[in-house]
This record gives sequence, structure tokens and C-alpha cells, in this order.
Amino acid sequence: FGFKGCQKIGGAQIRSLLAAKDFILFDCDGVIWNGEKAIAGAVAVVSSLIRLGKNVVFVTNNCTRPRENYVHKFCRLGFTDVMLEQIFSSSYCSALYLRDVVQVRGQVFVIGCDGLRRELQEAGVPCLEDADEPNATIFDCALAPDVKAVLVGHDDKMTFLKLAKASCYLRDPDCLFLATDNDPWHPLSSGRILPGSGSLTAALEVASGRKATVIGKPSRFMFECISSQFSGVDPAQCLMIGDRLQTDMLFGSNCGLDTVLTLTGVSQMEEAQEYSNSQLTSHRSLVPDYVVDTIADFLPAFDE
Ligand code: PLP
Ligand code: CA
Repeated sequence: FGFKGCQKIGGAQIRSLLAAKDFILFDCDGVIWNGEKAIAGAVAVVSSLIRLGKNVVFVTNNCTRPRENYVHKFCRLGFTDVMLEQIFSSSYCSALYLRDVVQVRGQVFVIGCDGLRRELQEAGVPCLEDADEPNATIFDCALAPDVKAVLVGHDDKMTFLKLAKASCYLRDPDCLFLATDNDPWHPLSSGRILPGSGSLTAALEVASGRKATVIGKPSRFMFECISSQFSGVDPAQCLMIGDRLQTDMLFGSNCGLDTVLTLTGVSQMEEAQEYSNSQLTSHRSLVPDYVVDTIADFLPAFDE
């Protein structure tokens, strides 16, 4: 028992796996959608699980939108029965961490998209309004005296000045250093890639000589957020479905959940098998328990 598998499953095995679980955690990008396109069969799988009375939640490292934007995205892609309470994003969980865990006093300097800032504001976490100083440099820009945390997430308007300011704030050992997630990059449908939050965090880690606390997958904190908002969450009854070994499968291992890798996203079977054959214990926790080609492989499990 506990020997991790990489086991390709289908039909009857998926049916009995689902029967043993009452909580299904879905990663989003690469599992139920790719960018703005729902993955074939995902809508039917999600609504069948909900109809069967399973608890379904979505755990995404994408920090660029507030949760209500996700509700709209779910709707737009045909997932019409998904509610706000089912959505756990790294931006929402960062807001909970700042508000409830560290109870930050003072302002938060945010490197990230407007959506991240909006999620923090909704939780009542004060963010520093980055004043528009078009010609300012680190030599003459204003620094706020009461910044108590720097939060780094995906930022498509990253500038040298933001990096420089954040580095200055982090000189204060009482200023916390958080990252929404540590994803290195994301695939685009064109075959190009997008650098992720992890690449910006790495720059700031070097500049500050500090290590960021990561909120998103694979950190356990997102699971703690879910456990605190749903009653009776038992890891043994949970199934984590994701497409990336270093985030989703490791998150499942870190939280004691059974894991399923879908092959419609970042990680492929060869990589999973390499880790599975590795002697390193750190590699074992990247190995999925089960593998399916696509979430659509779950559909026959709902046949009468
Ligand atoms: N962060 C950003 C900015 C993204 O674009 C994506 C995927 O598109 C992610 C994170 C990963 O999201 P998920 O955890 O749902 O795969
Ligand atoms: Ca993913």
C-alpha cells in the first residue's frame, strides 16, 4: 500500500475510484479547459459529479482574476452549475492568508494583475495604490513607510521599477514575502509560452536574498482553505485531478490525496514514468496514482 502507480485507468476502475471519493478537486487549465476552450467532455463530467452529490471544487494557480470572473468564465464555457464557493484560486487564497493567517497590519505591495489586487481589496486587505509616476526611477520614486508584505503573482505589466521597489521593501525583515504560486511558465495554444509567477518570484528572491512563502499549489494552504470552508473534508475521500506533476500531483501528495494525471495539459506520461522509476524520495511525490488521457475518459463511469 502507498506504492505509487502511474496506473492508466479506464471504465470500471474509474467508476470504483469515484465511488470511493466524495470530494473531487479539479485543477482548471489543462484539465477542464485550455485557455478559452473547454476540454471535450469536461462540462458533462463536472455536472454529472455534482448531480451524483459529490463535492466538486476547483483549485487553480491562476491569480489573474477574482473569483467572480471565474464564475463568468465557467458559465461562458458551458459549466453553468459552478458557484463562487467552489472556486479556490491562488489570488483568493492569498487574500485569506494575508487577512486571516498573518493578519497583515499595514499595506501590501502587489506585483500582479488588477484581478489580484481586486481580490485582496474584496477581502479588506489594504493594497498600496501604485501611483502613476511615468518618469520615476528607483532613485527618486516614493516608497510607502507602512508596507508589511510584498505579494508576487503573474504580472503582464511587470517593470524594472516594480522589481526595484519590491526589493527595497523586502530589506525590512518585518515585511513578509509571499508568492501567489510558483509556476514557471504556461503553455499558450499557439505553441508559445507565457512566463509564470515563479519566474518573477525568482527574480525577486535573487534581488532580496530571501525565499517567498508560496500560497498556491503545491503548498498545503489551498487545501486548508477548502477544509475550513467545507465540513468533514477527509483527505482519504478526496481525489485531486490535474495536468502538472510539479504542482497538482505534488499538491495531492502533500495533502494526502489520491491523484489523477490527465494528459491534456503540461505533463506527459514519459515524465511521470521517469519519476516513478527514480530512487529519489522527492521524486516519488510527483508521481500520479492514476493516469487518464483526458477527463472525457470519466464519462462512461456515469452510464446507468
Ligand atoms: N497562472 C497563469 C497566469 C495562467 O495563465 C495559468 C494557466 O493558464 C495558470 C496560472 C495555471 O492555472 P491552473 O492551476 O488552473 O492550471
Ligand atoms: Ca493546470
